[in-house]
Amino acid sequence: MASKTTVRSEGGKVRRVVVVGGGLAGLMTVIKLCEAKVPVDLLSLVPVKRSHSVCAQGGINASVNTKGEGDSPQVHLEETAYGGDFLANQPPVRGMAEAAPGIVNMLDRMGVPFNRTPEGLLDFRRFGGTLFHRTAFAGATTGQQLLYALDEQVRRFEVEDVVDDHGVSIPGEKMVRKFEMWDFLEPILDDSGVCVGAVAQDLKTMQIRPFLGDAVVLATGGPGLVFGRSTNSVICTGTAAIAAYKAGAVYANGEFIQVHPTAIPGADKLRLISESARGEGGRIWVPKDKADKRAANDIPERERDYFLERMYPGYGNLVPRDIASRALFKTCFHEGRGIFDEATGKNELAVYLDLTHKDEKFLRAKLAGILEIYEKFAGVDPYKHPMKVFPAVHYSMGGLWVDYEADARGSLKAGSPRNHATNLPGLYAVGEVDYQYHGANRLGANSLLSCIYGGLVTGPAVASYRQAMAKSAFDLPKSIFEKAEKRATDDYARILTQNTDAKAPENAYKLHEELAETMLRDCTIERDNKALDGVLAKIGELDLRVKSVRVTDTSQRVNQGAQFVRHLENMLVLARVIAQGARNRDESRGAHYKPDFPRRDDERFGRTTLAVHEQVGSVKFVRAFDYTCAGETVHVTDAIDTSLVTPRERKYEQAGAASAAATGKLGSEPESKSGATTEAR
Ligand SMILES: Cc1cc2nc3c(=O)[nH]c(=O)nc-3n(C[C@H](O)[C@H](O)[C@H](O)COP(=O)(O)OP(=O)(O)OC[C@H]3O[C@@H](n4cnc5c(N)ncnc54)[C@H](O)[C@@H]3O)c2cc1C
Repeated sequence: MASKTTVRSEGGKVRRVVVVGGGLAGLMTVIKLCEAKVPVDLLSLVPVKRSHSVCAQGGINASVNTKGEGDSPQVHLEETAYGGDFLANQPPVRGMAEAAPGIVNMLDRMGVPFNRTPEGLLDFRRFGGTLFHRTAFAGATTGQQLLYALDEQVRRFEVEDVVDDHGVSIPGEKMVRKFEMWDFLEPILDDSGVCVGAVAQDLKTMQIRPFLGDAVVLATGGPGLVFGRSTNSVICTGTAAIAAYKAGAVYANGEFIQVHPTAIPGADKLRLISESARGEGGRIWVPKDKADKRAANDIPERERDYFLERMYPGYGNLVPRDIASRALFKTCFHEGRGIFDEATGKNELAVYLDLTHKDEKFLRAKLAGILEIYEKFAGVDPYKHPMKVFPAVHYSMGGLWVDYEADARGSLKAGSPRNHATNLPGLYAVGEVDYQYHGANRLGANSLLSCIYGGLVTGPAVASYRQAMAKSAFDLPKSIFEKAEKRATDDYARILTQNTDAKAPENAYKLHEELAETMLRDCTIERDNKALDGVLAKIGELDLRVKSVRVTDTSQRVNQGAQFVRHLENMLVLARVIAQGARNRDESRGAHYKPDFPRRDDERFGRTTLAVHEQVGSVKFVRAFDYTCAGETVHVTDAIDTSLVTPRERKYEQAGAASAAATGKLGSEPESKSGATTEAR
């Protein structure tokens, strides 16, 4: 039986939902919950406006087709499924592609300063994996503009009263209560395994406390820090997802990690130079002669190898990221054709990304944000000199497994409580932390879209779930929450006090460096089973050594060292999921590439990887499981729903591969702009 009221619990408490994460996915979810009159507690590790979404540069996809190229949501769906090497369930992708034009219009109305054409229409640029202009953008700071727009909407709800079921404001209760600088530690499960809240820690006072919630939504972003150096913010450790995984949530397709082709090489955080640089005409090249020691501007055009344009004449510099990164890696690493570095006297692992042929005024209007970043961090003027770039870990296609319910058209059923539900009843996941939309390789500018679309879907899904609850979390015995709080408090005390007398304690940051080194070297662009065995052995070694970590700071205020130990322990668990998933998948698909198994193998591996936690030091993979959502038992298998776009081999060597998608005739001979196709990989 559903609860008697929707706003208050039986005991008269305001029934809130906990949203963890204030990036685009979290904020959009909060807005939709508030629109459905569901009060929210919003938790974030950093100030919401510093969420990693703020770094997004190039844009957000929507097939608005203002340029009259024949683009449509159907083409967007097909190119996304195709670019993702057919690992994504297609109904959610259809829902996302169909919603995209409306999403961009909504953002425009919210005040996002999108670039416009001289006629005043929204401008769209090209991005990877498509021949269409599909990417709306606000210069090269699109993420920041989007995040600030959603943040403003949420601030409105922070001052809006919660109104009870009789229309009366509840004193002191606002629709959104925001808790910034709080670290999510674990979901709280009741005796039957239903998620009824979250335990979190205040990173200023280090106080640990439970947050009750009729449901919890994780919108906690990606895990780039597992690889040490990446384009992600340093808070992107994936710790929240792994806390959920350790509590029983299934983690899906962990092995699919995107390596972006163009970041500024560096020793720590790697700054991205967005695909939009190539979308606006940037060209990748290396000297034809690998012994060429001249500066870039002294090398004449005919002596440059624009290798992406040579290898992929149709898509050129805008092949999907997995393909571009592999080509860059092969050129620099295997063929030794990087850029001569005077300091070392050798070719360094870098290629040129050249925009110097473009008009400076044009570049300033479209790309100023990223070109400023290059100038600031590389100390070279990119308007006058080609930039030096190399691939960097960027994005996780894998994440917490989430469900969906398809409608009769094969899109998402609006308002179904199953949409974005994890297998832990009451726990939802949305944004980069879920695995839903991008299959084996995400197309550029599809992430901002999936975050916002995911939020639009998750809000109503959670509202439906809450509506169907037999008993609110706010009516459960206090002991459930006290137990969870105590467990987390004890665990934190363990971190502070362990190994105080050890003669040779370990340093958490050093262990992280070792983890990152092995993951980066052997678990990114090219994967080899022997090397992966080495990665797994190293993780095993680190699992043991992490027990000997001693924190140097035991204070009860802003203790980042102790917090990092917790995140490191979780990163090790996630690293194992990624590496073991990669070890098991003996094929090449999207971002997962094994030279020893160079082809996609649909028969053996055309399925979702489903990882289940058993204990630290091992990961179990399952082919099926059951879970319960809003009273319904759902049987889940690892089969992929490819009912909308028939899988076929990817062929990006010639223009026409994506145009094949554009015709809606995948599987048949493409009617492409060039009409040509070749075998891929
Ligand atoms: C440099 C760069 C440029 C990019 N450019 C583009 C682009 O142009 N187009 C595109 O589509 N995609 C782009 N992406 C990808 C895209 O930005 C991200 O995938 C997306 O913004 C993720 O949003 P999110 O809401 O899922 O998570 P985030 O924006 O990462 O937000 C995560 C939130 O969770 C909170 N959080 C995390 N852990 C915890 C915890 N333990 N406790 C409490 N709170 C927690 C954080 O504080 C934060 O509020 C880019 C990525 C990078 C790195």
